[in-house]
Amino acid sequence: MKIAVLAGDGIGPEVTAQSVKVLRTLAGNRLDLQMTSAPIGQAGVDADGVPLPDATLKLAGESDAILFGSVGGPTDELPDRKKRPGAGLLKLRKALTLFANYRPAVLFEELIGASTLRPEIVRGVDMLILRELNGDLYFGEPRGVHMEDGKRVGINTMRYSEDEIARIAHAGFKAAQGRRGKLCSVDKSNVLETMQLWREVVMEVGREYPDVELSHLYIDAASMMLIRKPTQFDVIVTGNVFGDILSDAAAMLTGSIGMLPSASMGPGTQGLFEPVHGSAPDIAGKDIANPIASILSSAMMLRYSLGLPEEADKVERAVRTVLAAGLRTVDIQQPGTRLVGTAEMGDAIAAALEIAA
Ligand code: NAD
Repeated sequence: MKIAVLAGDGIGPEVTAQSVKVLRTLAGNRLDLQMTSAPIGQAGVDADGVPLPDATLKLAGESDAILFGSVGGPTDELPDRKKRPGAGLLKLRKALTLFANYRPAVLFEELIGASTLRPEIVRGVDMLILRELNGDLYFGEPRGVHMEDGKRVGINTMRYSEDEIARIAHAGFKAAQGRRGKLCSVDKSNVLETMQLWREVVMEVGREYPDVELSHLYIDAASMMLIRKPTQFDVIVTGNVFGDILSDAAAMLTGSIGMLPSASMGPGTQGLFEPVHGSAPDIAGKDIANPIASILSSAMMLRYSLGLPEEADKVERAVRTVLAAGLRTVDIQQPGTRLVGTAEMGDAIAAALEIAA
């Protein structure tokens, strides 16, 4: 099984190294996981002048799965958007048609005190946010800033075709079938025509899934409900922009953005697996980043792309074991726990895997 390891920038390489460690321990002599690294983001710019070097795109395209770290750095604000580190990831998602972004937000009971919300609100949170990844304001044309009557005007275009909506809706209904059978579609159909179409198409697709309970919320109400009663959600399906925002808000339910994995899937089994967080330049190079989001992303990779659900369970169990033993990185630290760094957390999770084996 071929895995492209694109660690990227900032804390990306630090946390991805822990995932690689865990995967190597898991594989031992039993699984043939071929992991090959390549630069992307600022690292791509530094190595090859562009955020997504051709060789990196080729490696990713030929791999069964991509283990991704994070991108972002000093060239974030370059006037030419295509040369910014983040453009590497956007281009990669588009090139591999990775249109469905799965972001589970699960509260580990051991971390209940690390959430900024009260325990009685977050206890039992276990939801999946499914975000469309290839359309919406981030890709719609026309876009840009131009002059009108001597003043600057900014334009972005919210655009979705019915096929784009239908394919993410199907993914949402299927995900709900594999969980508690509830799908909530989030839109803004009371104001935006694009979102009226979103709602119509989701309802049309829904007729093919009578076993799934479909509900709809406007994005403003959904944001409120996410904080007020998050346990009501099973699967949320939404567009690129609303999903971007909602999933970061959901991060806070679970205690830290350093705990949240994600998978970006295309039409087949190939996927890109990455922590939800960015390159966190404020903590990069200090060995304090939480590697659990990356390690849980590896577990998603085992389950979604490599067809190894039992191995995925093992990794997730090892994470729970280490949390139950009281080890914490600084972002999830609580009284009575033991503070560890990035590498030590990775070592402990790998060791927990070995003990379990
Ligand atoms: P960020 O996720 O990098 O950081 C937000 C906050 O969370 C920071 O305080 C950071 O220290 C903390 N944090 C993030 N990951 C953590 C971890 N694993 N352990 C502990 N604390 C963690 O978001 P940002 O600060 O808005 O962006 C920084 C850079 O990352 C920017 O260049 C941005 O463009 C980029 N970014 C990249 C991705 C991606 O690669 N997919 C996603 C988001 C942001």
